[in-house]
Amino acid sequence: MKISLNPQAKDAATRDALVAEGGFGKYYTDHMVVCEWNEKDGWSEPELKAYGPISLDPATAVFHYGQEIFEGMKAYRQPDGGIGLFRPEANARRFAKSANRLALPEMPEELFIQTVEALVKQDAGWVPNKVGESLYIRPFMFATEVGLGVRPSNKALYMLIATPAGAYFDPSKAVNVWISTEYVRAAQGGTGEAKCGGNYAASLVAQKAAAKEGCDQVVWIDAKERKWVEEMGGMNLYFVKGSGADATVITPKLTGTLLPGITRDSILSVAKDLGYKTEEVMLSIDNWRDGVASGEITEIFACGTAAVVSPVGTAKSAMGTWVTGGGQPGKITMQIRNHLLGIQHGSINDTHKWMRKVI
Ligand SMILES: *Cc1c(COP(=O)(O)O)cnc(C)c1O
Repeated sequence: MKISLNPQAKDAATRDALVAEGGFGKYYTDHMVVCEWNEKDGWSEPELKAYGPISLDPATAVFHYGQEIFEGMKAYRQPDGGIGLFRPEANARRFAKSANRLALPEMPEELFIQTVEALVKQDAGWVPNKVGESLYIRPFMFATEVGLGVRPSNKALYMLIATPAGAYFDPSKAVNVWISTEYVRAAQGGTGEAKCGGNYAASLVAQKAAAKEGCDQVVWIDAKERKWVEEMGGMNLYFVKGSGADATVITPKLTGTLLPGITRDSILSVAKDLGYKTEEVMLSIDNWRDGVASGEITEIFACGTAAVVSPVGTAKSAMGTWVTGGGQPGKITMQIRNHLLGIQHGSINDTHKWMRKVI
């Protein structure tokens, strides 16, 4: 890896003050990693260099046809002051799959992880210290061939940036969701399984509609039968049936149109470890409404790298409004959240070997 250190890197006091501000995506670390690919030579040697703007020809493919993918992952401060990454191999694998779907080059998993480790090591001072805080890492790749012809690009640029993420979780506030029956996120054969910017571009109008309904997030239902619950905004969904030791923790099945979340996958294991039954199911909007009405569904939460676990309270749709758990975070929701955060921060035994030590 080529290393060109940022001569204008923030001094420790300035950096610590920015990290202490909390928030998300407001400040970026001193460095970034870039790595170029072209059809003839493959991947270049990656370069770690000063964070900053890049210059691209206006006819660059990504601006016109949206050939772009990304990942989201986190580095967590450990009790010994070190830093650990949570399941970076899973992000590397998914990044390669997304690349494949968007006709971009697959980046070898070792190269992907090498770039992430290099950036986290270099900018380790930007990793917050408190539980619930972390360094959010954003790898992305886009088509850089210049020209307006519609074809898979013969050039691509991989970039890696990072931003401190504060603890923005407010346990007293559950997320309110708008179940969209007007717009569709993904259909069979489409890009729903890939982490690509285009999926988000197509979702923003529904996000706007949700806000107009007084909701924080959109819940997507399937494209074909228009009744099966898929996911929420940029997070997967979980439902708790029953309570106490007999509770079952369920999540919509991966049908090919849902994004296979790494947090979702981890919670299937964590819930089992905590003694709950787990199931991947087809869950309809009617099941949701009736389950809440009968009291069978006791808790709902969304999960993803950014927020880890967020309780879901009110669900609003064209068919009516129904509220779970009085709009308060459920017990099992919080238990799962705390357990996963405990593993990530190194205070709970990492029996699945999910953490990868960086320093
Ligand atoms: C990234 C993402 C998720 C969550 O995936 P994690 O790996 O858990 O962060 C869920 N849904 C969508 C649409 C996403 O883009």
